[in-house]
Amino acid sequence: MIINRNETKKIQVGNISIGGSNHIVIQSMCNTKTKNVNETIYQIRKLEQLGCEIIRVAVLDRIDARCIRFIKDNINIPLVADIHFDYRLALEAIENGADKIRINPGNIGSYESLKKVVLKCKEKHIPIRVGINGGSLEKDIEKQYGYNSPLGIFESAKRNVKLLEDLGFYDIVISLKSSDVLNTIEAYKLAASYFSYPLHIGITEAGSLLTSAIRSSAGLSPLLLNEIGSTLRISISDNPEYEIIVAKELLSSLGLYHNHPKLVACPTCGRTNYNMLPIVKEIEQFLLTINANITVAIMGCVVNGPSEAKNADIGIAGGKDEAILFKKGQIIKKVKQEDLVKTLKEEIMKMI
Ligand code: SF4
Repeated sequence: MIINRNETKKIQVGNISIGGSNHIVIQSMCNTKTKNVNETIYQIRKLEQLGCEIIRVAVLDRIDARCIRFIKDNINIPLVADIHFDYRLALEAIENGADKIRINPGNIGSYESLKKVVLKCKEKHIPIRVGINGGSLEKDIEKQYGYNSPLGIFESAKRNVKLLEDLGFYDIVISLKSSDVLNTIEAYKLAASYFSYPLHIGITEAGSLLTSAIRSSAGLSPLLLNEIGSTLRISISDNPEYEIIVAKELLSSLGLYHNHPKLVACPTCGRTNYNMLPIVKEIEQFLLTINANITVAIMGCVVNGPSEAKNADIGIAGGKDEAILFKKGQIIKKVKQEDLVKTLKEEIMKMI
């Protein structure tokens, strides 16, 4: 269903393998309060249905850490506990079933505290994601390399990974995120040439849906096309469901995710003589519920419409208040405006 990548070290997160020759794993993060267990479970289940493969939750206190057990009992994908500053929360999250923890080894407490976390991860076979963020580099690194700089992010990753390696821990995934697209690309390139650990890629704090979709595509495409990135998150200031939708579309556009419908639609122009845009919106929503490698074309007129519609699995080319329906290259019939959505949905369902 999803194609493979060049090999890195393989890391197991619950029932999902990251790196090695595995497909690129899509992740997201809940924006619910973890202690609101029902709300969190509901959100995770929605994300699962859309194709999220690993979910992360913020652990701010001991109640959050304990809630992981109840959440885990009601979801089907591995759960990552995101922890800062307090090693005891990491220990408690692991005891309560977290499949991975995301920490910065340098800010989790003393060396002894880190050692306790590492020992617990070893005991439970839990990997650690070292999550470096360009906006919160160590003071000395920031002073030497500058705020949010690729070299600074890379040096911080090296330092934090070494803290784990010095404790004999190698079950590591690394992320080196920045809100700056070009800095992110550079940091990941440096990391990919240095580490053999799987990299979790993303543009952090990338903004709202439209902005993030553009920034994330601009930043992650060059990495993905260079076989960098074993797992990704599209960070969006909105409902996390959009993160999965954008991630799938991005991977699919790069030929890295299969079983994903492709919608071809023209922008419309003065030649369009039927109400096409609402049909595009409705069919786009409908296709989100489908896992199938099909192409659907919705086209405005006879200029480019028939050729795109013919080359799709199912397509329509607009006329006056109606459109011609194509299926596998053949003209099937004319369909009136009011019946177009229903007919397209029926034909799509027949094909999958
Ligand atoms: Fe305009 Fe026709 Fe092209 Fe659509 S297919 S943009 S309606 S010329």
